Amino acid sequence: MKDDLLTRLQLPRMAPGWVWLVGAGPGDPGLITALGLCALSEADHVLYDALVDPALLALAPGDKIYAGKRAGVKSCKQDEISDLLVKLAREGGRVLRLKGGDPFVFGRGGEEAQALARAGVPFRIVPGITAGIGGLAYAGIPVTHRDTNHAVTFITGHGADGKLTRLDWPAISRGAPTLVLYMARKFAGEIAGALLAAGRAADEPAAIVANAARPDQQVIVTTLGGLGLAAENAPSLAVIVIGANVKLAEELSWLASAR
Ligand code: SAH
Repeated sequence: MKDDLLTRLQLPRMAPGWVWLVGAGPGDPGLITALGLCALSEADHVLYDALVDPALLALAPGDKIYAGKRAGVKSCKQDEISDLLVKLAREGGRVLRLKGGDPFVFGRGGEEAQALARAGVPFRIVPGITAGIGGLAYAGIPVTHRDTNHAVTFITGHGADGKLTRLDWPAISRGAPTLVLYMARKFAGEIAGALLAAGRAADEPAAIVANAARPDQQVIVTTLGGLGLAAENAPSLAVIVIGANVKLAEELSWLASAR
């Protein structure tokens, strides 16, 4: 029945020699797109990230290759992953690169796509639900809300060098009503300090959404002033949101009753 539904969508199929960069969503395997799910069932090779749910991999009959990176661990280098994508495609495989969230949001999908483009390997991008939007939704936090914020700014806590991202924090403090921070747990205290120094209020709502859309999801609601300390004790896989929209988390919390 479900297969039939997917067939009726007449989705494009994977072709030999192609690479698809597919977003798996933030956790809940149900959040992959129909296109991603279909491709998973027909790929010859699936190169997957550390963040991908094993239940999704179990649906893939092709060979599965772990191509994850963890902060600070150099075992799986970006170049090696890109080279492998090119090699498998040139051998005529249908290659699916499965990445957590959305491949183009702080996921280095752009770099992999560049490597493919430069090697002349045809590719398709299948977007996914990013942790900083869908993960917040699972915490009952609308990423935008008319009463609270008309804009949202996505920020990564650290750059390629592993250090705090160099940004114009005073400008962000003035111009960004809601900030969504990825990979920022370690630097949460420093970022909060920079925002406070630039004039943001210590009692501004903030939340840490850890393991979003996973069975062990944890939502820690705090304030900008309390963020550093709260982050120290939070699980490592977390998005941080700072802004008035966090106030909605209590009223709109839905996950516990949906389980
Ligand atoms: N491409 C991914 C982001 C990869 S960067 C996406 O679009 O979601 C990795 C960072 O994403 C983590 O450090 C964390 O900040 C965030 N992240 C990814 N999955 C998450 C989850 N399930 N819960 C909380 N944060 C998550």
